Amino acid sequence: MDRQRSLPIIWHEAYEADIGAHVFPTRKYRSLKERLVREGVVKEADIRRPEPASNEQVGLVHTAAYLEKIVNDDFSWQDNMILEVPYSPQLREAMWLCAGGSILTARLALEYGLAAHLGGGFHHAFPDHGEGFCLINDVAVALRVLRAEGAIERATVIDCDLHHGNGTAAVFQNEAEVFTFSIHQQNNYPMYKPRSDLDLGLADGTGDAEYLELLRTHVPEILNGHRPDLVFYLAGADPYEEDQLGGLSLSRAGLRQRDELILQLAAGAGVPVAITLAGGYARRFEDTVDIHFQTVRAAGRQLQRGRG
Ligand SMILES: [Zn+2]
Repeated sequence: MDRQRSLPIIWHEAYEADIGAHVFPTRKYRSLKERLVREGVVKEADIRRPEPASNEQVGLVHTAAYLEKIVNDDFSWQDNMILEVPYSPQLREAMWLCAGGSILTARLALEYGLAAHLGGGFHHAFPDHGEGFCLINDVAVALRVLRAEGAIERATVIDCDLHHGNGTAAVFQNEAEVFTFSIHQQNNYPMYKPRSDLDLGLADGTGDAEYLELLRTHVPEILNGHRPDLVFYLAGADPYEEDQLGGLSLSRAGLRQRDELILQLAAGAGVPVAITLAGGYARRFEDTVDIHFQTVRAAGRQLQRGRG
């Protein structure tokens, strides 16, 4: 395969933090990487490994008090309960690397038109606290870094994780240059949903046809209206009908169509896309990996088509 044409893929072995027996499968990152290599989507040697984000970069989103709490490992029992994963220095290292990975993914997306991060999408982290498995908000950090550098002016977050992108909405609520869009199950975590620029809260059991129709209606409007320099796409696997935490009813074919649709619409609008994985808790672990695999493969095909 022509390396110039291949999709940039970003991953690091240290994403796999040990959080004990947990519904959040951190081994999915490595399993996905291995499958992409096995099926020839990427060569092992071509995988790009990020540097950790700097504290200054993370500080573009998170408060000094919160960063101090993290660095000093000063997490209370309540903090860990809200975070829903036990805090550890290893988790911190994984999340700083992951934020660095989303920064790198955004840069490569601007260069190549598309880039896929085998990680990231920790959209429940607020400026002053982490929650819902999310210590820091990698996508928000990447967007603030690129905006501060002048690499982009405007960006759109397309958040298709099953859960509302509460942290991201809170970060950018007074920043008109970043348009936040979340399509999610309404009756699910988080209870408190700060408003995104566009929220589509879906009824329990919503399936492929309605979901895809909503994207076909709203995504072109968003891209034409906001005219971003970059899209961050959170390709959550948890709208899947077999998800343990989710209550939507998308099939695997429907999720594949979702990915293709978002990528086609962005390409049609001439907007580069940085992909992150976000959630995925299928009853069968292999299904989560497969859904993410299909997302990356769709991106690879889109890139080939775009340059064909
Ligand atoms: Zn989720």
